[in-house]
Amino acid sequence: MPASGDVPSAPAPTDSPDISSDCLLDQDGPLDRLARLARRYFGVDIVRVACIDADGVWQAQAGDLAIDTAVTAFPFVAECPLRARDGRQLGAFRLLHSQERGFDDGDRRALHDFAALAATAIEKRQAMALDRAGEDGWRDEARKLSLAIAGSGTGVWDRNVVTGEIRYSPGWKALLGYSEDELSTRIEEAYSRLHPDDAAYVRESMQAHFDGKTESYEVEHRIRCKDGSYKWICSRGKVVSRDESGRALRMMGTTTDISALRAMAQRVQQTADLVVNLTDAVPGLVFQCIALPEGGARFSYVSAGIWDMFELTANDVQASTLAIEHRVHADDLTAYRESLRVATLEQSPWQLEFRVCLPLQGLRWRRGDASPRRAADGSVVWHGFVTDITDRKRADFELLELAVTDALTMLPNRRHFMSRIAAELARLKREGNRHSAVLMCDLDHFKSINDTWGHAIGDGVLQHFANTLRAQLREIDLVGRIGGEEFAIVLPDAGIEDAHQFARGVQRRIADAPFSAAGRRIPLTVSIGIATMHTLDADAELALGRSDQALYNAKQLGRNRIEWLMA
Ligand code: GH3
Ligand code: MG
Ligand code: MG
Repeated sequence: MPASGDVPSAPAPTDSPDISSDCLLDQDGPLDRLARLARRYFGVDIVRVACIDADGVWQAQAGDLAIDTAVTAFPFVAECPLRARDGRQLGAFRLLHSQERGFDDGDRRALHDFAALAATAIEKRQAMALDRAGEDGWRDEARKLSLAIAGSGTGVWDRNVVTGEIRYSPGWKALLGYSEDELSTRIEEAYSRLHPDDAAYVRESMQAHFDGKTESYEVEHRIRCKDGSYKWICSRGKVVSRDESGRALRMMGTTTDISALRAMAQRVQQTADLVVNLTDAVPGLVFQCIALPEGGARFSYVSAGIWDMFELTANDVQASTLAIEHRVHADDLTAYRESLRVATLEQSPWQLEFRVCLPLQGLRWRRGDASPRRAADGSVVWHGFVTDITDRKRADFELLELAVTDALTMLPNRRHFMSRIAAELARLKREGNRHSAVLMCDLDHFKSINDTWGHAIGDGVLQHFANTLRAQLREIDLVGRIGGEEFAIVLPDAGIEDAHQFARGVQRRIADAPFSAAGRRIPLTVSIGIATMHTLDADAELALGRSDQALYNAKQLGRNRIEWLMA
């Protein structure tokens, strides 16, 4: 903005003497026009619009008079201050006349209106000056930046949005393999260098920023180099000046070569894809879990198997492992937590077989295997996997069942019965002052049943007797087939009398409901010996031996009898 002393005199137009008397300042700006209009309107010799700004006093004037002539030289002076919208005084609107003249209210109002129009024009002028100063600052910054980052793989650009001109720093040109004096400054040509697949996205991002929808412009895209190859770049920029209606006028920014970064990111992505594809192909769940030093744990990676193993998604466990605990069978939860606690404490591998209760699959068996590694920040990183072992567990149980069950009667076999009766004695000893009844049953003259009816019928009779026993036993009672036609029973916490009653019940049942084959009832009797097992017994065999002795007595005394032996 010119200061008052620098204002050049405008050449007087030759074809209009009237206008020639109006001194054209400010390249015929709005203030000069206003001054001319006011001069005509009021019919005064001179109109001066004086404005005080950072550079000093600056004036527009209409009327033929040296601009520095003092106001006091005029007999008539009318003046109205120029006020900004915030009340700040910007200057004054003055009417000067060489003769005294009247000035009524209408004139005063008109002068006020002129002053208001002039104030608006001055404010706009100042705002534009500020913008230009900002823009100059930016350009200066860009120049410095371009020097500072020369050779760093980043270039600087400066775009005039109105004219469509774009200028690049030497570094920018070097990025694409051009020398300093190459490349046109036309924006259309800049767009033609974009990779066809990226062009729309770049244009849209640029438009969004022009429209003020984004704080800044930032895009990653491919651009064609001088040799025709494409390079990945990251371009960032910002509109540094806009007109009064917000239209972008100028924009500046930087461009960085990110080809190497993209290539590395691509390699990392390929590795990550490989891990995901491999782990997803493995049956079961592959995971990485982080136990934090302040407590709590979360899964940082889970393969797709998280669904099969726990009917959960990666989202369900990425913040916490609690969702997994909710799936663990209540009876296994303590062991689950304890095993993890110990493995963490000892930094030893974790291995556990546990049950889960799943909404869709129901009760299933899982096996977890993982190794801990303590990280520098005190957290423990676990890598491991969880597999489905339900089928194996089922087979194990079936094998176990086979190993402990008598195939003919489906009662526990001798070995299993012996381990259970030993456990029962241990319980008695643990609880103290207690005893349980032990009964030994032997079918009478069973050999003759075989001989008379055949071995298969003999088998049927054995099964029938086993069912008779089973029907009379409580959940807590123990039973076992301990010999060909010998069966042992333990009635926990029972005495001789209880056992006697039980034995009578058995005899009654087989008498009332004997085994039938081919429409024939096969009569059967049983001899039963009773003893008690108590805390003084060194082992369960002793008690069993006493009941066997009682059984022997029953046989001796004629069979189909119940005898007991007090210890
Ligand atoms: P006692 O009244 O003295 O007990 O006479 P018993 O005939 O019942 O006794 P003994 O010990 O002489 O005979 C038992 C018979 O039980 C001999 C054996 O063939 C038969 N036996 C053992 N196991 C089975 C089996 O699994 N099926 C069949 N059908 N018979 C069996
Ligand atoms: Mg026998
Ligand atoms: Mg017998």
